[in-house]
Amino acid sequence: MSPSPRRLLLLPGLALLGAASLAGAEPPRARSIAVTIDDLPGAPASLVSNHPDALAATTAKLLDALAARAIPAVGFVNEGKLEVEGESPDERAARVAVLRLWTAAGLELGNHTYSHGSLNRVPLEEFQADLVRGEPVTRALLAERGGTLRWFRHPFLQVGLELDKRRAFERFLVARGYRVAPVTVDNDEWIFAALYADALRRGEAALGERIAADYLAYMDRVFAFVEELSRQVVGREIAQILLIHANSLNADHFAALAGLLERRGYRFVTLDEALDDPAYTLADDYVGAWGISWLHHWETTAGRPRTPSPDPPDWILEAHRALSEGRHEARSSRPLDAPAR
Ligand SMILES: [Zn+2]
Repeated sequence: MSPSPRRLLLLPGLALLGAASLAGAEPPRARSIAVTIDDLPGAPASLVSNHPDALAATTAKLLDALAARAIPAVGFVNEGKLEVEGESPDERAARVAVLRLWTAAGLELGNHTYSHGSLNRVPLEEFQADLVRGEPVTRALLAERGGTLRWFRHPFLQVGLELDKRRAFERFLVARGYRVAPVTVDNDEWIFAALYADALRRGEAALGERIAADYLAYMDRVFAFVEELSRQVVGREIAQILLIHANSLNADHFAALAGLLERRGYRFVTLDEALDDPAYTLADDYVGAWGISWLHHWETTAGRPRTPSPDPPDWILEAHRALSEGRHEARSSRPLDAPAR
């Protein structure tokens, strides 16, 4: 099957992919991906320390890794994470200053709601109010650099349980000047990140390295899966959108993850550029309990069963179960009773 000349004209990336696959076993070298980073200024359970100074150092490390490759990431903020019980106004200001590191690095910030609730559970009006509550600091930081607040990311990637509610919320977003930031590379990075932070907090550096190595190996499998799922669902590889979180794991190991992506033939593009891919106009009427990749949205909308994603290694899942059961404060940004995907 070869694409028509018209499609080649519309999708120059497809022409390159086609040429590469015809040439033999060489992987395609026309891949692109936008990087998005959630739960700013930091997901507490996945930080070695959530002290404002430590958070600033962790953030600086992550931003350095992005800057080294000029990666145009978008960071999604929960302004509720600026309010830590018992902290002084100065400490709060220090957390706002951490967010300012992002805009000072030339990166864009988006809204991930104030308190990271789920659209599946929170009534629409309440959810919308929580989104609005999550705007003022982020909007002001963007305005300092002449920017505007225009991206929204669903917490847990949950888009609602009923289509009426999903569509009503989407109309609200448009009216308020937002565009939804989809995710195609959904993954269980947050599980590795919680274990990594816990290991380092306990001084177990060797365990931390083992978790990080398995994180990278797991993500390589996730990228291979997403590439194949793209071919199955869309008929070609699309401009992907990666979701990871602001945490210690990525501060220490994002450079290696980015290197892995480069070896797979990816170049890093803006979220706007990724969304120029016509795939993002495909019909999508998914609703349901699972917060899943938009590739799975499109697969489900087409009436097909959802292709299962790769799982982390068993020892990681078991260790995370033990951590979650043993320590409620170690909760990740996803509630324990919410589906992981
Ligand atoms: Zn989140």
